Amino acid sequence: MSHTNFDPITLTQSLVKCASVTPKDNGALEVVKKHLSELGFDCHLLKFSGSNSYEVNNLFATIGDKGKHFAYAGHTDVVPVGNEESWKFPPFSATIEGDKLYGRGSEDMKSSVACFISATKRFIEKYKKIPGKLSFIITGDEERDSVNGTPKILEWATKNKYKFDHCLVGEPTSNKEIGDKIKIGRRGAISFYLEVKGIQGHTANAHLAENASHHLIKLLNNILEEPLDGGNENFLPSSTQIATFDVGNPVQNIIPELARATVNIRFNDMHSSDSLVKWIEEKIKKNFIDVKNASCQFTYDSTAESFLNKPGYMCDLIAKSVSEVTGRNSNPEHATDGGTSDARYIKNYCEVVELGIINQSLHKVDEFVNIKDIIELEKIYFQILDNYFN
Ligand SMILES: [Zn+2]
Repeated sequence: MSHTNFDPITLTQSLVKCASVTPKDNGALEVVKKHLSELGFDCHLLKFSGSNSYEVNNLFATIGDKGKHFAYAGHTDVVPVGNEESWKFPPFSATIEGDKLYGRGSEDMKSSVACFISATKRFIEKYKKIPGKLSFIITGDEERDSVNGTPKILEWATKNKYKFDHCLVGEPTSNKEIGDKIKIGRRGAISFYLEVKGIQGHTANAHLAENASHHLIKLLNNILEEPLDGGNENFLPSSTQIATFDVGNPVQNIIPELARATVNIRFNDMHSSDSLVKWIEEKIKKNFIDVKNASCQFTYDSTAESFLNKPGYMCDLIAKSVSEVTGRNSNPEHATDGGTSDARYIKNYCEVVELGIINQSLHKVDEFVNIKDIIELEKIYFQILDNYFN
């Protein structure tokens, strides 16, 4: 007889106790695999490496062979603890005090993984089988490069003929109460590294020189002059920030030859990396067209494209399930704020929405989850499965 415990609180503790700071796994995926194998899932531990990144362990677990395909996606890796001395309890002790469970990864996002496993167990117990297909896409690399994680699991799944219809990502999205906020998209991010080259000279002989910083200031002013957009019904306005401005001139009597600036843009779905590269090229062209002795070069780093899943089936399914469990009538807020998440890869494969525990202590010292929130999230996940498959 097996003694595997499917209680979501105990399971959260088992996961938190594995110190899985990216890319270390320390048994976390084995805990997930053990539970899902026992429920009859086909488990594939997938080790990916290469592509200029470290090696990562991942897990793809699947059950059912026909009907619609629901996927749950999440990660078992966690960010470092920082200064361990500052923690109230050892960060991987999963200590419960009062109504809270403390530990690195408790909020982001091991409690969610535990809740979805528990909900699945209860669903299978109730209906004896999954009337369709259900898969877990679990990566050990969400918090760092995300290179040998979710994108490669999805490629592997496609190669092995797995196709998903809908996906729920369990990142912490709730605000004050479980299910009051979900994420239907995310903003994109790009950084431009600008360098203006002029002609060095004596500040007293300005007519013989060309001040690079003057040209860069003009260009940056022009970049900031007009906002990129005013936002739309799903997104805040895009934000352009000058992150640094560097001339590096140690003296007051030299006109600088070089001036550099970094411009970081968080953009909504009215732009793409490509359109912003063209936009900055235009700005440079316009500003330097009549300039003889200075020019501007740039490189860029495009971290993520923005994306939006138009509110549809998944949002309705979640709203219905949340209100059935909590008795609240208000629809969850549809948000697109915050940093990036692995939903940006999944959106290329199927409709994806993020719903998880309350976003309040992730990546901080004394990260914690409320016990009652774990219990409620597990119920909501169960209800989602119930509404989806029945
Ligand atoms: Zn996370």
